[in-house]
This record gives sequence, C-alpha cells and structure tokens, in this order.
Amino acid sequence: MWDSIWINAHLATLRDGKYGVIRRAALAADQGRIAWVGARAELPGEPAELAREVHDCAGRWITPGLIDCHTHLVHAGNCAREFELRLQGASAAEIARSGGGIAATVQETRDASEMELIRSASARLKRLMDEGVTTVEVKSGYGLDTAAEMKMLRVARLLGASGAVTVRTSLLGAHALPPEYRDKADAYVDLVCGEMLPAVAEAQLADAVDVVCDSAGFSPRQTRRVFEAAAALRLPVKLHADQYSDSNGAALAACFGALSADHLEYANEAGVRAMAEAGTVAVLLPGAYYFLRGKQLPPVGLLRSHGVPIAIATDCNPGSSPSSSILLMLNMACTLFGLTPEEALAGVTCNAALALGLAATHGTLEAGKVADFALWDIEEPAELAYALGANPCAGVVRGGRAGA
Ligand SMILES: [Zn+2]
Repeated sequence: MWDSIWINAHLATLRDGKYGVIRRAALAADQGRIAWVGARAELPGEPAELAREVHDCAGRWITPGLIDCHTHLVHAGNCAREFELRLQGASAAEIARSGGGIAATVQETRDASEMELIRSASARLKRLMDEGVTTVEVKSGYGLDTAAEMKMLRVARLLGASGAVTVRTSLLGAHALPPEYRDKADAYVDLVCGEMLPAVAEAQLADAVDVVCDSAGFSPRQTRRVFEAAAALRLPVKLHADQYSDSNGAALAACFGALSADHLEYANEAGVRAMAEAGTVAVLLPGAYYFLRGKQLPPVGLLRSHGVPIAIATDCNPGSSPSSSILLMLNMACTLFGLTPEEALAGVTCNAALALGLAATHGTLEAGKVADFALWDIEEPAELAYALGANPCAGVVRGGRAGA
C-alpha cells in the first residue's frame, strides 16, 4: 500500500532532459519518495486499493518541483533608489558617490539582524514557492567578513528549516571587495581562504563555494586560490564566470570540476568544451542580462553543440536581477536567449538539480526520487515559458505531502 496516489493528471517527467510526457497518468508516493510513475491504464490495480490517499488532479499537469539554482535571496535593502537615479540620467560614478551599488547592500546586510534578514528573504522565497519552486540555492556574499557571511548562511539554512522548501547554500565570500580591503584584494583572498572557509566548513553552513571571477570581481589567480582552499575542505565549487568579459572563467570552473559556471555571456569555445568534458552545468541568468541591458548573448549554440547541460535561474539580487519569478525567467530564457520551452523547463528541473549536485534525488519524475512536484492549470507544458506574468501553479507536493 502506497501513501498517496495522484490520478487524472498529465505528466512532464523531464526524464533525460526532455518533456517526457505521459498523458492520462498516475503518480504514486510512498515515504516521501516517488513510488510509481506511468499511464493510469498500466496501474497494477484500482487507485483506492493501491494507496491510502487518492488525489484527483482533474486533468492538471504535473512537473518536477522547480529548482532555482542561483539566487542571492538573503540580503537587506534594495537598489530602487539607484534604479531611479540611473533612469534620471545619473552616471555610475554619481550613483557610487550617492552611496549606491553593492557597497550599500553590504552595509545594510551587515547592519541587519538575522530576524530582519529572515523576514525579507521569506517574502521573496514565498513568491518563488508560489510558482512551484521546491528547491532553492541561496548564496552569501553581502557580508564580506567572516561573521556576516556566516550570519547570511545561517539565515539561509533557517529558511529551509520549516521543511517547506529544500535550501542549498553557497559561500560567496569572494563576491566583491569589502570597503576595508580596497586595493588589497590578495589580503582579502587570504581572509576568505584562511579564516572564512574553514569557519564555514567547521559549522557546516555551506554546501558549495562560489566566486565571482570577472573584471568586476576576482582574478583567475585569486579564484584558483579560493577553489584550492575549497577542495582541501572537500567542498564543491561554482563560479560566476565570464559575465562582463572573457576571463577564461568557463575553463577555470571546468578545471576544478565545478558543479556549474554561471552567466557565461563571454565564455569562449575552449571553455565550453572543457565544461562538457568536466560535466559542469551552464547556469544562464536572463534576468541579469535583461536588467543590465546586456549586449552579449551567452553562447547557447556552443553549449548545445558540445552537449553542456543548461540550467536557468533567477539570480534574485538587488543590484542586477531584482526578480523572484522563476516563470518570468523561463520566458526570458526563450525570448532573449533563444532556448526552446522544453530546454527552459529542463533548465529549472533536471539540469538545475545537476547544478546543485542533486541529480540523483531531484529534478525528474522517476520512481525512487524525492516526491517533490508542482501541479499546473495548463493545457501543455510550453505554456510555462510562454505566458508573461501569469502564474498557473495550482499547488505543490513536497516529499509526498500536499503543500500550499
Ligand atoms: Zn549571482
């Protein structure tokens, strides 16, 4: 006897990165895992005899729970004032003088209590969850000292403590230079490698380590140092790579077997080839490309031809992607980057799971995986990427239990 069975549904299983459609399907869950997936006609008996609870989906679609694999969800304040100044014609230098930019977010995040950070992040997280997100990655990176980075990671862990969503955390101590280390980048990297990483590892606050390697962040040499320190602590790595210029970030990420290299607008072909060989996922972030009015598209054709798995995420952050809508990102990935709706959906399910090291348990509707899935009022799966500003999510199931 299974715990629950869902009948009268159409499934997009996302097996092998395709829609994997099963119409007139049934899906059973037992002890938090998917126990059976297939056509209703192939069920080995009557639903009421097979499971303690029977849920009639009334013709809705079911997809794996969506996974937002790149967010800066925990932060204080926002950059709306800066946005307004810029649109009134202020230059970047004038905005910096008025106290805007990442330095402002760092100061506000350092000053905020854990309670305040939980409150503001919870509101953003709720919007993601309302759109079918059941797993979210959260980065630190606005503390930029050991205590404040650990505070951010504790808050991220607490967001997942209710059990309503799975949270994976990444230490992004090497996000930007804090003001007290201006012109002393190597000394700051010493702090990240020598103090921050060991403290975070000891407290088990991070599932991965991330770095911004770019003209606006850290050099390839500095990135390598952080990755070596992470490897010594057996923490997997990710990389903000080649967003503003080609720094060979894609190849560097691949060289360290990174789970993912993210952004990639300026990535070169050798880097893409190296990613394919290393199994590093390309995480594309159309919200940042849109908000910054990017001129350089990520190399989607190269990623496809080399067989690099493509994930999509919100990059939810105050400065360059103030969005907590994963469905809007699906649309933007198609309209701006030319992904197909099927590729976009794979980007927030199976490939996003891969980018978080969760592919064995999450991201597809297959027997044995965690029973996290979303129900949708749609006629076909392409609608998830097609509609702008609509939310057809009719509910989520987490670990086999119906949620909000
Ligand atoms: Zn980011």
